[in-house]
Order: sequence, then structure tokens, then C-alpha cells
Amino acid sequence: MSPTDQIKRRPRRALAVDAGKATRWLSRRLGKGGGTNYPGLVAQRIDPSALRDLAASVPNGCVLITGTNGKTTTTRILADAMRRSGLEPLTNREGSNMTPGVATTLLAQSDALGSLRVGERAIGIFEIDEGHLLPAIQAVQPRLVLFTNLLRDQLDRYFELDWTAHLWKEALAELPESSTVVLNADDPQVAYLGDDLSNPVLYYGIEDARHALAELEHVSDSRRCLRCGADLQYSHVFYAHFGHYSCPVCGWSRPDPRLSAWKIDLEGIDGSRIEAVTPTGAVELELPLGGLFNAYNALAAAAAASALGVGTSSVAEAIGAARSAFGRLERFTVEGKNACLALVKNPSGYNEVLRLLLADEHTYGLLLALNDDGPDGRDVSWIWDVDLERCRERVRFVICSGRRAQDLALRLKYAELSKADPPDPPPEVLVEPDVNKAFALGLANVPDGNTLCVLPTYTAMWELRETLAKSGHLETFWKS
Ligand SMILES: [Zn+2]
Repeated sequence: MSPTDQIKRRPRRALAVDAGKATRWLSRRLGKGGGTNYPGLVAQRIDPSALRDLAASVPNGCVLITGTNGKTTTTRILADAMRRSGLEPLTNREGSNMTPGVATTLLAQSDALGSLRVGERAIGIFEIDEGHLLPAIQAVQPRLVLFTNLLRDQLDRYFELDWTAHLWKEALAELPESSTVVLNADDPQVAYLGDDLSNPVLYYGIEDARHALAELEHVSDSRRCLRCGADLQYSHVFYAHFGHYSCPVCGWSRPDPRLSAWKIDLEGIDGSRIEAVTPTGAVELELPLGGLFNAYNALAAAAAASALGVGTSSVAEAIGAARSAFGRLERFTVEGKNACLALVKNPSGYNEVLRLLLADEHTYGLLLALNDDGPDGRDVSWIWDVDLERCRERVRFVICSGRRAQDLALRLKYAELSKADPPDPPPEVLVEPDVNKAFALGLANVPDGNTLCVLPTYTAMWELRETLAKSGHLETFWKS
């Protein structure tokens, strides 16, 4: 921009920033969830280049994290690793992961004239909705983009995986040449993004074959070769379509990851011990978040940190201190009873959470809550791809809740829970559409020392979490 343009633009920028800041103040006053999107939206309407200029003035550049599952947890671990290495990360709030949310984060750090006021150690670490990567890359011009995975999610919003993959390819074409791309080698849809990309690419993946399943799960979303369309052959499948694969026709295969976990000891819901090789040497990681999906999140964060030059000790500390993001396997106690809250939003994630929770000896009852508001996805047919047959294992009851409680009850009818292996009695199925009442009912039915596991979709989780926050059991989300 020429100096003359800058002078011409300044009043508009100041107006945009002031309007954004006023909106932020107003939405906080009105209690509208901390004002995580509107301020940026207002500012961008007044001055469309506001975000681009603000992002360009972050001293250590910006990093974008996208993918279907694991964005929030990965972003938190990476930001913490940055903090421990002496940088000052600026991050957006969950639920504000499109460009207005990023703009809102930067506006909060700007003065009245629209100039960013941050220290010279500041770096932007932003979670980006997988359907909005292109505008985010165009506006932010990140120095690194990290992709976690691509799984089927809310079909009515993103159509098919191939379409999202196509959008990602287009978005990467807008990336500055020197920007690094960090990719999950075990997810063919993500790994393929690195094919014929001229940017520096760093792959991460899992080598420990002990965690391989016997075969691809029926929910697995993508098993075709991205180069030629033939069926991929898997030597190991970890879950969904993640694993070690190659194409028998054209020879395309899983890239060798430079950051890989060669040994992972899963310790149930409590976490995992990971032995990994990074580009700068071997590292042992103690991850206090359970499940192979969280091991992937930790590896993704470690790979991005390594590409950004952060030392392995800062990464290991951040992974060791990781705590659950909003509604991701959050554990808490209500009147002496244990509860675990695990957001579910697509079949693969649902299956992984069920696998993890049903392996825990304290799991006693399940509360499944299904809503069909915008953020949940209007089409709830995806629950038919969830392995709810697993509810035959361990649990004594399953409560179906949410506005689509009856759809869940029907799904459970077809899951034939009565086929539970004797001597365990089959779980009782209850229906209570009101999620707060269902939670009280569940807790009342769980003996001390055991756990009620709650698996809600987005809006059901917000509803329940708001009640828990009011009663002081959980922090309100814009404070957490
Ligand atoms: Zn092929």
C-alpha cells in the first residue's frame, strides 16, 4: 500500500476498529457469549482489508490450524508450547474460528487508530474452520498451516470429503511460497495435499503397529487413492481411514513422516505415554489426555512447534500440561458423583470416544444428547454410522436426550442392546429430551465412585454446560 493510500485508509480503519471495539463492549454487556465474532464482522464490513493489515503486523507471523477433529486441542497445546518458549501467542476462541473471529482477536489488541499494539514476541495461533481456510489464508498469509485430519462431518454443511479436500488444495495455492505445511501422513486425504506442493512440508504420523485394528471400520470415510481412484491397500489401520496405506495401481503411498510416534502406551482415559522421533531428536511425551485421537493432536502440535523452531523441552512440557478443551473429555464432580463430558460431532469421533469411555472400568451409564440446530448439523442421519452396538459393553443404562432423542432411541433399538453378553444384564434405555433433566436422572442412577459419561452434540453441550457453569461446576466458556 502506498503512503497516500495509507493516509486515505486511516479514517476508515479507525472507524472499523472503533465500531468493532464498541460491538465487543456491547455484546459483553448484553452477555452474548463474550462477543467472539460480531466485533470482527462489523470491522470487516467497514474496512475489508482490516484483518489482512492487522495480521501482517503480528511480529512473529501467524499460524493456522484446520481439520475436522482435534483443532481446538492441537491449538491449545501449540500455543502453550509457544508460551513456554518465550513467545506471546494470540489465539481465537472456540466457536469463532472463521475470519471474523480472528479479526476480533486482533481488534482486542489494537489501538483506536487501528494499529496493532502487541509485544515483539507476539505470534498468532489461530484455529480455522475447515470450510473457511481459503479466506483465512488470503487474509492472514500464515507462515505455517497445520492440517489435523479430514473426516465426514455434518454432510448438509460440507457435502463430501472430496469437496473439502478440493477447497483445501485451492486454499494452499494462495499460500506464500516460504510458508510451511504440516500434514498428517496417516490420513490419505490430508497427506495428498503435500503431493506436488512446492512449499516446505513436514509430515507426522504413528508407527506403533500394536494399535492397528483388524480391518477398516465401516465408517471409514476415504479409502480411495487420491491420485488414480483405485482402492488403497492398508497394512495397518489405526481408526477411521488413518493408517499405513499404499495404492496397488499407481504406487502412491503414505509419505514417511519426519515426526513419528514409534511407541504409544495408551493408559485409558488418563492419557498416553508417547516415544517419538522429531527432526531434532528423540523425545518422550506424557500426555494426560486419553485416546489415540489425542495422541495425534499432540503429534500435530509437536510437528508444528518443531517446524517453527521451538525446542522439544517446551513442547514436551506443553503436552504434559495439556488439559481438556471445552467439552473434550472434561471430567468433573457434581455432588460427589463423577461425570465426563465429551463433545461428539461426527461418526469417527463418536466411535473413538465410545471406544475410550467404554474401556474405562468406572464408566457406569451413558447420556447421549442429539440436537439438530445449525452447529450440530440439521441432518442427524450420521448417528446410523456410529457403532452404538458398543453400548452392549459395560454400561447399565443409556439415556437418549436432546431434541432428537427419539432418533437416538430408534438407533439404539436397531443396535439390539439386549444382545449384551451374559452375565451382564442388557443396559436399560431411557428417553428424556430435556438435557438438564436427563443429566440429573443420569447422576441419580450412578453409584458413588462411578462415572456418568455425557456425549452431547454442540448445542446440547452448550445447554448443559451453561447450567453447570451457573451452579459453579464449570467455568463459563469465554473465561475458560
Ligand atoms: Zn493410485
